[in-house]
Amino acid sequence: MATNKDSNPWSPLQAPKELAQKLSLDPQTLLLASSDFGFIENKTPLAVFEPSSESDIIDLIKYSNSLPNPFTIAPRGQGHSTHGQGLTNDGVVLNMNGLGDFRNGSEIVVYDEYVDVGAEQLWIDVLRATLKHGLTPLSWTDYMYLSVGGTLSNAGINGTSFRFGPQISNVLQLDVVTGKGDLVTCSPVNNSELFYAVLGGLGQFGIITKARIALGPAPTRVKWLRLFYTDFSEFTKDQEYLISFHEKTETRGADHVAGYILANLPPPRDVSFYPEQDLPRINSLVSKHGLVYSIELGKFYDTNSQSHIEEELAKLIKGLKFIPTFAFEKDISYEEFQNRLRVDIEFLRSNGLLNVPHPWLDLFVPRSRISDFNEGVLKDIVLKQNIPSASIIFYPMNHNKWDDRMSAVTPDEDIFYALGFFRASFANGEVEASEAQNEEILEFCKDAGIQAKVYLASYKTQEKWVEHYGSKWELIKDRKDEFDPKKILSPGQKIFN
Ligand SMILES: Cc1cc2nc3c(=O)[nH]c(=O)nc-3n(C[C@H](O)[C@H](O)[C@H](O)COP(=O)(O)OP(=O)(O)OC[C@H]3O[C@@H](n4cnc5c(N)ncnc54)[C@H](O)[C@@H]3O)c2cc1C
Repeated sequence: MATNKDSNPWSPLQAPKELAQKLSLDPQTLLLASSDFGFIENKTPLAVFEPSSESDIIDLIKYSNSLPNPFTIAPRGQGHSTHGQGLTNDGVVLNMNGLGDFRNGSEIVVYDEYVDVGAEQLWIDVLRATLKHGLTPLSWTDYMYLSVGGTLSNAGINGTSFRFGPQISNVLQLDVVTGKGDLVTCSPVNNSELFYAVLGGLGQFGIITKARIALGPAPTRVKWLRLFYTDFSEFTKDQEYLISFHEKTETRGADHVAGYILANLPPPRDVSFYPEQDLPRINSLVSKHGLVYSIELGKFYDTNSQSHIEEELAKLIKGLKFIPTFAFEKDISYEEFQNRLRVDIEFLRSNGLLNVPHPWLDLFVPRSRISDFNEGVLKDIVLKQNIPSASIIFYPMNHNKWDDRMSAVTPDEDIFYALGFFRASFANGEVEASEAQNEEILEFCKDAGIQAKVYLASYKTQEKWVEHYGSKWELIKDRKDEFDPKKILSPGQKIFN
């Protein structure tokens, strides 16, 4: 926030009447907006703004800009950040959620090749609306109850990214209210600088209010496999084979390629995929080897491809070096597959296990250094320190599916791996121990010269952000000066505030 020492900080009580009506000071509302999924940071905003149209957002931003001491504005989708990225304690949380109620049915409109959606919409609702037309977005996150604006501000990745790129690579057009309060429609050919700025832009340059997302024909069913390895290099070799299949052959390859690491750490360990009767032998494999690597493969099909799906699948996995007695398969509907994380999250929620700190770490690791990462991080830090991690994901993506003009940053290699530690801290001191381990992992990478990039980063100083962006920093700074010169938007990222 640009501060003017001669003026007092802003108070919501000074807001003009039209805006004041939409600024909530209700303690319960403020409490809900003061934390996020991470339950690690806590910041109480001065007010929560409930817009009923894009014009309300424009008015709020213009009003803040007009003050000698502008207040910050933190757009909030589903509040599923883990380290306060959507919070503010010297400004207003902009609750995107209510916007859909006022769109009069225009919140999700499906066309033949794309869907127009309000940025406040959840991906699960986008999926359900498009499926009615036999269509689907192509690139996904694992969890579907995230807002479109929230994931597009980061990247939006999962096992579909190797083929279609992150969700930000599948956007055709956006409506954005900039930090100056201008409503701009932008695309690769129209106001392209703003388009590329906000995709992966961590909410720094504008509020995304609408997005046009590319669609393709929807499959109806999925062959969903998990294949176990105890040898890290066989595991990664096979993952890389699977993500290059489309490029190298005429045959249709896998549609979803991800990976999990089962580590011999204290419970909880996410084993919900596997049949109950197999859990004892899975657990003993993990105890014996310390780390077991699992490829997650999804192959989509429909009535047209049903007759040859088994044959195609057999051909695809022939030659892979997984342990044959540790191969697990399910056959489920496409919608169930995309929404597969819901069951686990609901289980946690209904057992009161969700409202605890989540000291997650997400990293992009360059392919050339993944064995060093396996030895130095997974074996020497994670296994030895014995801190619970419910789930660890690890899978490769193709760099050529990302667009470097966007604000997101990745390692500069053709293939890089996404690593995610999904942790929930229940015991005293566990959150501090996990955060210390996260730091140690980053330090290890730095000392070993592993050019990893943090995804969903939460640095506390601008110096760290400068390091994070590397050669992109000047571009990010110029974009901020152009689109949000008073540094009003998304202060919780701590890049400019
Ligand atoms: C259970 C769970 C599973 C997840 N799975 C995945 C996954 O598989 N893949 C993946 O890539 N990520 C995943 N994430 C991370 C997730 O994509 C991000 O946390 C994302 O920001 C969540 O969206 P949200 O609507 O909750 O955003 P919020 O947390 O509300 O906001 C995130 C940031 O974006 C800004 N923002 C929000 N809306 C807008 C907007 N309309 N315009 C501009 N800026 C905006 C906010 O100010 C904030 O800085 C997961 C998170 C959780 C908790």
